Amino acid sequence: MNIAVVGLSHRTAPVEVREKLSISDDHIKDSFSFLKANEQVIEVSILSTCNRLEIYALVKDQELGISAIKEFLTNHSGLNKEDLYPHLFNFNQAEAVNHLMRVSGGLDSLVLGEGQILSQVKKMVRLGQENQSLGPIFNRLLTQAVSTGKRVRSETNLGTGAVSISSAAVELAQLKLGQSMGKDQLITLESEDVAVIGAGRMSRLLLQHLYSKGCSKLTLLNRTLKRAESLASDFPEIDVNCGLLDDLDECLKSSTLIFTSTASDFPIITAERLRNCERNTVLRLIDIGVPRNISADVSDVNGFESHDVDDLQEVVARNQDARQKMALEAEALINEEAKTFLEWWASLEAVPIINRLRSGLEAIRKEELQKALSRMGPDFSARERKVVEALSKGIINKILHTPVTNLRAPQPSSQRKESIKLVESLFNLGISEKDS
Ligand code: NAP
Repeated sequence: MNIAVVGLSHRTAPVEVREKLSISDDHIKDSFSFLKANEQVIEVSILSTCNRLEIYALVKDQELGISAIKEFLTNHSGLNKEDLYPHLFNFNQAEAVNHLMRVSGGLDSLVLGEGQILSQVKKMVRLGQENQSLGPIFNRLLTQAVSTGKRVRSETNLGTGAVSISSAAVELAQLKLGQSMGKDQLITLESEDVAVIGAGRMSRLLLQHLYSKGCSKLTLLNRTLKRAESLASDFPEIDVNCGLLDDLDECLKSSTLIFTSTASDFPIITAERLRNCERNTVLRLIDIGVPRNISADVSDVNGFESHDVDDLQEVVARNQDARQKMALEAEALINEEAKTFLEWWASLEAVPIINRLRSGLEAIRKEELQKALSRMGPDFSARERKVVEALSKGIINKILHTPVTNLRAPQPSSQRKESIKLVESLFNLGISEKDS
């Protein structure tokens, strides 16, 4: 049995590949069914975010398990193996565990330490539970990944500062505005005519950061008006004009800066749409949707400047040095958490011998108790029988406590194997024909 992860992320694949792999909530159930049906897969979980798709699995055979997951990803994406495989990474066992802890801690994120990934790891746990794909190993692994993510945010400086893809998107807008004025610096957005398309979690963060960067008035369009109005009501300090996506063409004419962050599977702004839009000034579009909300062909249309999530690298790189230093603290914590999990995993090796030892002693206890009780005859009250039974159980548990603790304690595998052998021979616990 091995833990494996196969996937791709912003580090290994551009957005045009990532968006083909993204698994929407509508397709997640089928994906779990497909993976669980593979005979190599014992437990499995799926992490699907805008910047990564990762399949974590407990597999019978490392190589065959990884091939099965790659096969799933090929079918799901509709890409040829030649186009997909160069973008995939895979890790096994200790490396896979370490990778998951780093992801949860935000150390593998585009914006180091961003908080959304922790919610997405929590969602991965929920989806695994709902789809009955987690067993004892993954329940433990994923629970520990979530607590590691929390520890990174509460115990290290990496968690300080409200960093997210949305904050990077707002900074990119400021930087591009500055560059358009010949300055390599972030410029206030107070004079921009801003619009935000979408009213979900990322749009909420966009509004928060836009306000902090000088924006006091904006247009907010959404598929459903109620959600836009509800979001707007949480920002009374911003003058928000809410509307439906039907108003998008009007918005494309009147705005100077538009952010798109909807979960639409298809682009909502295309080259054709922009060609029909007459403008005198440049419109800057920043798309944080994955799959992209703005189609790639808009770069062919004059008068528009379009950026997608991969373009956020430019602003991220500017802040990276300081955050990298903070990340070092978090790395130490992550190594510690990964080690704890791997020690627990290694201790499972002792479980069969502990179970055999326990049931061997339990059989002796029951036999001896029965003998003693029958010797005492009918004069022995029910209460007295209970006391003697509890006494016998207590003695067995006390005797077992130290050897069980020692067998499960962190130690080199060779040492544990030696102890297991010793217990086996001293208590005559060799695998019987029935067990084998
Ligand atoms: P969310 O909270 O689920 O909100 C989804 C938004 O998309 C809602 O406004 C929803 O409108 C709208 N929407 C859904 N389907 C649509 C469709 N077919 N046509 C038009 N609008 C549609 O999602 P989110 O977390 O904010 O993510 C939004 C986008 O940002 C996604 O593409 C995601 O991949 C990307 N992103 C997310 C993160 C993250 O950490 N969460 C980070 C970076 C990028 P209704 O209100 O009408 O349902």
